[in-house]
Amino acid sequence: MTTQANLEAPGFNPGAVGLSWWRRALAQGAGYFLPSSLFVFVPLMFADNYTPLTWVLAPLAATLILAFFLGTTLVMHWREEYRWLWLLGLMGSILLMGAVTGGDSRPTYFTGFVTATAATLITWRHARIVVVGLSLAALAFALSHGDMFGTVMAVMGFAIGWGIGTGIETESTREKLRRAEERTAVLAVAAERERIGRDLHDILGHSLTTIAVKADLAGRLVGRNDDAARAEVDSLASIARQALADVRATAANMREVRLASEIASARSVLDAAAIEHTTPTALPVLDDDRAELFGWVVREAITNVVRHSGASQCAITCTDHSVTVTDDGRGIDTKGDGRTGTPGSGLAGLRSRVEQTGGTLELASTPGRTSLTAILPSPSDSSPHPQEPA
Ligand code: ADP
Ligand code: CA
Repeated sequence: MTTQANLEAPGFNPGAVGLSWWRRALAQGAGYFLPSSLFVFVPLMFADNYTPLTWVLAPLAATLILAFFLGTTLVMHWREEYRWLWLLGLMGSILLMGAVTGGDSRPTYFTGFVTATAATLITWRHARIVVVGLSLAALAFALSHGDMFGTVMAVMGFAIGWGIGTGIETESTREKLRRAEERTAVLAVAAERERIGRDLHDILGHSLTTIAVKADLAGRLVGRNDDAARAEVDSLASIARQALADVRATAANMREVRLASEIASARSVLDAAAIEHTTPTALPVLDDDRAELFGWVVREAITNVVRHSGASQCAITCTDHSVTVTDDGRGIDTKGDGRTGTPGSGLAGLRSRVEQTGGTLELASTPGRTSLTAILPSPSDSSPHPQEPA
């Protein structure tokens, strides 16, 4: 999915596939391209020394520029090599226009056409070189010809191309991140299901097989050796009881997975966001409620790190009564009381969840370091150790 998107032009819109050509053009930005395309006629007005040939060639060049510029919205699905040729075609027709209308610096008027086309048509990694290089060249050229209009257009051309390119790039990064998060959630659920299936099989597979075999045997023994039959039935009952106890214990433990699975999903979300991380490899023994609550803390904190922090490193640490998530990002805009300046629902909800269980949520943030810690009363505080001397 992602690799496929990389093969298409940055301005490619998958929603445009299969539409009629003009709908496809509109879906891929023709609405933005159209108004500015009128600009193609400006050099005609500035043309020096018109000859009859100019009257033939200039409209021809203008039509070519228009066709290449507007046509950009129709070739977004082409292979990159062909899209480069398209861009060169646009540049060629602009040079032609310059040549037929006279005035060496005339082509610089069209800088924005080329930078906008490059930004929508060519992978940004390469397009940005075109945008910067071409704008600089146009600027130098216009300046050296003392062409004020060309100078302004070169600067505007840079702004247009850079704006479009970075805009598309930001959007696609966000989209990739969102997809990675979704994929991670799906994977975590799948892994959890698999684990439940495996546990069920391990716990019940063996005891049920034993029960079936022993029941068969007991059936055969009835009437022949009643004492032996009774012994088998007794052991049947105790195996069944043991299996029941195992199932109960497993069901109770299932929620304990929460923290573990949240940490696992944190790892892959952070990987996807290219944030380095240190996470615990072994977890302390936690009761169900703690494991679930800590899972929520990790989930919210990691979501915030990925969404808001701009961090390059993140660490999760955990003890039997606290969990901390630290990042080296830009920090939260905090008021004196340590609460967020613009409280969203995430941290507020988490705080009340933690406080309901008698714990506290501590948020410490400065630019370069943010840490969120949930602290619960130590397990030994709530149920004092009987061995401990008074
Ligand atoms: P939401 O995530 O819905 O915006 P939160 O309550 O989770 O709400 O966060 C409140 C605000 O605090 C966020 O909008 C963000 O500006 C800021 N914030 C939270 N965590 C971080 C972080 N790790 N780094 C930087 N800013 C953060
Ligand atoms: Ca949040």
